[in-house]
Amino acid sequence: MIIIMKAQATQSQIDAVVRRIEECGLRAHLSQGEERCIIGAIGDDRPIAKDSFLLLDGVEQVLPILKPYKLASRDFQPANTTFRLDGVTIGTSSIVIIAGPCSVEDRNQYIETAFAVREAGAHALRGGAYKPRTSPYSFQGLGEPGLEILAEARERTGMPVVTEVMSPEQVPLVAKYADVMQIGARNMQNFALLHAAGESQHPVLIKRGMMATIEELLMAAEYVLSHGNRRVILCERGIRTFETATRNTTDINAIPVLKEATHLPVILDPSHSTGKWEYVTAIAKAAIAAGADGLMIEVHPNPAEAKSDGAQSLKPERFAELVRQVRMIAEAVGRDLKASEHALVQ
Ligand code: PEP
Ligand code: MN
Repeated sequence: MIIIMKAQATQSQIDAVVRRIEECGLRAHLSQGEERCIIGAIGDDRPIAKDSFLLLDGVEQVLPILKPYKLASRDFQPANTTFRLDGVTIGTSSIVIIAGPCSVEDRNQYIETAFAVREAGAHALRGGAYKPRTSPYSFQGLGEPGLEILAEARERTGMPVVTEVMSPEQVPLVAKYADVMQIGARNMQNFALLHAAGESQHPVLIKRGMMATIEELLMAAEYVLSHGNRRVILCERGIRTFETATRNTTDINAIPVLKEATHLPVILDPSHSTGKWEYVTAIAKAAIAAGADGLMIEVHPNPAEAKSDGAQSLKPERFAELVRQVRMIAEAVGRDLKASEHALVQ
């Protein structure tokens, strides 16, 4: 950090700041300008409460230099993080598409959708067994029986499964059934959950909170990484703005910003970011053009009867068309959409 002293700061105030820097285990570097003194604190100052320097007499401003996240940053690891999820590798030049209904509703609905999305070219399955709903009267998910349906779909299609975990207590159970645990937008800053997900060493997909900054998303990832769990995927899913034409506003900027800031795989969920199936394909294509490593798409065999998020769910045939169009965009930007390795598994 850099500490800028007030123009009228006295020598004893400067000395007190230097002493405080040294007490924190850092070195001080003084630069005496014509009007004021600027003090650089040298060393890793992330654990230090920078605001406390503002309380020292004679200090005008404290400027951080290091990013607050470390393990998630590209400075720390320049090469992309890639990892394998049961036959699918995320983070490479090949785009990964995760698809399925918002919620696991019943066995027939889920298995039918799983086969349909595999047929259309998806690489992994999604579906919530534990649903974070705004209203306590809305469908809350099937719970463990839903996880069992996901496990059956995984077994029969050979595709890895992504499903949401809502509390630290659920982590062992969800990790037992799922290949990737999703931490939803509403839980992005549930630090006890991030801690438990980190300790589990199980792959985690973190969705950006609807009112979270990109830096806050990276700090959520940092929680998981700080427990030695390297397998983290970041997901942009739209943020709240003044715009009401769509459910959320797709922050397409987040894709190149995140790709520059972090080595972690970055995907986009155009279903939640738009809230309307009519716009999902356009925004999916935009995400790939912007550099996303994958997509998460809601698909339902009968959206009009979906228990959650029907308005933003694609019918399987529309999803198949999305995959065709996304493939063309991927090729145009030097990437590809590999056929699912599970396409022939029955
Ligand atoms: C979901 O993926 O169905 C979901 C609830 O997403 P989000 O947390 O982004 O709202
Ligand atoms: Mn949903």
